[in-house]
Amino acid sequence: MNSKLILSVFLILLSIAMPAFPTEEPEFIHKKVNFGYKTAEKRKIDVIVIHSVYNASGGDIYDVDLIIKQFARYKVSPHYLIDREGNIYKLTEEKNIAYHAGVSCLPDGTSGVNSRSIGIEIVTSLDEAPSAIQIDATVKLVKYLLEKYPVKYVLRHSDIAPDRKTDPWNMDWEAFIVRIGKKTDE
Ligand SMILES: [Zn+2]
Repeated sequence: MNSKLILSVFLILLSIAMPAFPTEEPEFIHKKVNFGYKTAEKRKIDVIVIHSVYNASGGDIYDVDLIIKQFARYKVSPHYLIDREGNIYKLTEEKNIAYHAGVSCLPDGTSGVNSRSIGIEIVTSLDEAPSAIQIDATVKLVKYLLEKYPVKYVLRHSDIAPDRKTDPWNMDWEAFIVRIGKKTDE
């Protein structure tokens, strides 16, 4: 066999063996916090929780640093925060348990959501929807996480704490679920 033939057979076999082309890691802006999480090793991650947040403490309601200061006051943190321009800030490592869900309950009836989840905050307000570029960034991040972990649930904060929480606000959830290609009713 000539080398060209061997190469093409190899490439065909490789394309059969390869799974769907993996989603590349999104670009992160690292802004490590020193509060709102607990260090953990080898925890099982199978839940993604989507939130929304704004700065309610005076000044620009969409200012990332003011929002992070607000998290600090409440000693909470998500893993990721997505600003109005679609920048993805990484506040703590995925392996750590971030305090973002509070008292909440999964569809399977279990609590302890923080210990098995990744929390993502989208910067919006009570009367404004996430921008198109924020939704694009959220889709990219969630698709990346779906390939990385055996995720059972992608949920809204309001799904797991319906008596306390209404976020993510003004988000077209059905359209988002279609874009990430994941059902929530399982
Ligand atoms: Zn929330």
